[in-house]
This record gives sequence, C-alpha cells and structure tokens, in this order.
Amino acid sequence: MSILVYIENVEGALKKSTFESLSYAKAVADLTGETATALSIGRVSQDELNKVGQYGIEKVIEVDNNDLEKFVNQAYASVIADVAKSMGATTVILSNSFSGKGLAPRVAAKLGAALADGAIALPTISGVTWQIQKTVFSNKAIATEELHEQKKVIALTPNSFEAKEAAVAVTIEKYEPQLAPNDLSTVIKEIVRATDKVSLPEASIVVSAGRGLKGPENWAMIEELADVLGAATACSKPVSDAGWRPHAEHVGQTGLAVSPNLYIAIGISGAIQHLAGVSASKTIVVINKDPEAPFFKVADYGIVGDAFEIVPQLIEAFKAYKN
Ligand code: FAD
Repeated sequence: MSILVYIENVEGALKKSTFESLSYAKAVADLTGETATALSIGRVSQDELNKVGQYGIEKVIEVDNNDLEKFVNQAYASVIADVAKSMGATTVILSNSFSGKGLAPRVAAKLGAALADGAIALPTISGVTWQIQKTVFSNKAIATEELHEQKKVIALTPNSFEAKEAAVAVTIEKYEPQLAPNDLSTVIKEIVRATDKVSLPEASIVVSAGRGLKGPENWAMIEELADVLGAATACSKPVSDAGWRPHAEHVGQTGLAVSPNLYIAIGISGAIQHLAGVSASKTIVVINKDPEAPFFKVADYGIVGDAFEIVPQLIEAFKAYKN
C-alpha cells in the first residue's frame, strides 16, 4: 500500500499548490508508515521534477506523452487512476485547484474510492477509517468527514497546508499510459492566457477592493499594491456587476472562495455574502473609512481611514521595505 500524489504544472513549472500537496502527502505517509510517490503528467523538465525531493518525496513517475501535453480532464483522471492501480496506491492526493476539482471525483469513481474534496488538515487515522476536516457552505463552517473505504482520494485546499522543506534525492521513472479513445474525446486546441497576473484561487496574498473605490478609474493603485506584494487582485460583487472589474475577480458566496495567507480588503463593507468567500483567509486586513463597517469584526488588523490616502502610503512603504 502506498500514496500517490499528483503534481500539477503550468507550462512546465510545478505550481505552489503542488508543493503543499507534496508536503501533505509526505505528512500522511509519515502517519500511515507508507511511502508517497509523485506523479507528473505533461512536459516538465527533470530539474523541475527534482524539486519534489525538497518536500521529502523520493520518487516521481513521469508521464510525458504527446496526447497529454495539454490538460484533458478525462485523460488525466484515467492516467492517475491507472498509475494508482499499477502501484497499489490506496490513497491519491491532489490539489483542490481548478483542474483538481475536476480530477478528484473522476479518479475516486474510477478507483471506487472515498473522496474528501477541499480538505484543510491532516486526517485523523483509525484503521481504515479516516476523519478529515473540510470547509463547507462557502467557508462558513468546517465539517469533519469520515472516509470508510480502503481507497481514498483527498483534494487539498490550496493555502491550507504549509509546504515544508526537506531534502532527499529523487529518482524519476517513466510510465507509458494506455489511453482509451474516449479518454481523448476532448482535444484542447489552444490555451489563451487571460492574464499574466497571479492566479486568484491560489494566491497567497489577495488585494481586494469594493465600491468604496468609487469607480474603475481608481483601480491603478489596487493593481500597484498587488504588484508590489506579488498578490492577486479581487473585488466585491457589485464591483464586477458594474463592470468595473472582470467577473473572474468576484469573491464571495456567489463568486470564488479564496483562502490566502493574507487578504487585504479595501473599501469593502464586509457583507455576509462577501465574507462567505474570504473568511478562511489566515490574516485579514481591512481598510475602511467607516469604523462601524462589519468587516472590522472579522479583521485581524484594521485601518480606519480613507483608502485614497492609505493605499498610496502602503505602496510607498512596501517599496521602501523591498529596496
Ligand atoms: P458597499 O456595501 O457599498 O461598501 C462600500 C464600503 O466602502 C463601505 O463600507 C464604505 O464605508 C467604504 N468606503 C467608502 N469610501 C471609502 C474610502 N474612500 N476609503 C475606505 N473605505 C471607503 N457580495 C460580494 O462581495 N460577493 C458575493 O459573492 C455576493 N453574493 C451575494 C449573493 C446574494 C444572494 C446577495 C443578496 C448579495 C450578494 N452580495 C455579494 C452583495 C453583498 O450583500 C454586498 O452588497 C456587497 O458585498 C457590498 O459590496 P461593497 O462592500 O463593495 O460595497
């Protein structure tokens, strides 16, 4: 019995959430006394694959096949399940990223495994029964799920488990997948990057702004603050509804749920529907000119004041700190 951890890449570079999944897999392996093996699908350099050793994983199975160069949900799920079967893995771990959300239930169905999607902590293990915590109802509550099946698939919420550095040598083993025709019924012709900015669901810092910014013309300072911090930008629903920002940036009950290490909310009142998508953030900083704004109740740090005065000062301070 062993553990298989799927490692995601973007254009050949392993993602930050992948390092978290690797550390999580290593920690689960330490709990169960098993070994964890990484699985890479797609075109990833040996140098990049060797990085898994920095997180305590000694072996990578590499699937580099022309048909799998671009991410195809069904095909990748088949490969993950096949590799898990061939190595006798009873636990598959992946990130609950955009692609992981599509893969996890497919892999679980193919393996006849129990699924914990959106896990936020290590399992509590009692024989074959594992208890795992996950956020539910748009991060409003934490549920503990019990997995009774021998086989388990765990999709780890990005930013919920710290990637811990270790140093072990890595061996890389090639695997040639047997793909069925319907695995490749979807063909990705082209991938167009919508933006070069940090991806919002996986960002460790998010700078978010609301209607307090008055209009789209005032977002330059939000972008600048995000750039200085290496952060992703987000917004409240009315802001994207008004077309000030793209809908992809809308966070909350009806938008994306994010769980960064740092969420900076600027000119956002903190309505319950907004908080639903951001309250799992580790540290929340609120900048609002109204001391009674509800967001302050959930803030770790609050600045009462005018965003148009405070944000430029923060930008200058962070720039000075970096230099
Ligand atoms: P406002 O409520 O207008 O707040 C603006 C804030 O900016 C105020 O607190 C004000 O004090 C402050 N401000 C003004 N000027 C300044 C300044 N110069 N400097 C600093 N602060 C300033 N909302 C979401 O965000 N996400 C969702 O997913 C979502 N889903 C919803 C689903 C449903 C079914 C419903 C009914 C609503 C939903 N909403 C959602 C809307 C939500 O209820 C709020 O209306 C919305 O979050 C408010 O956005 P806001 O905070 O940007 O604007």
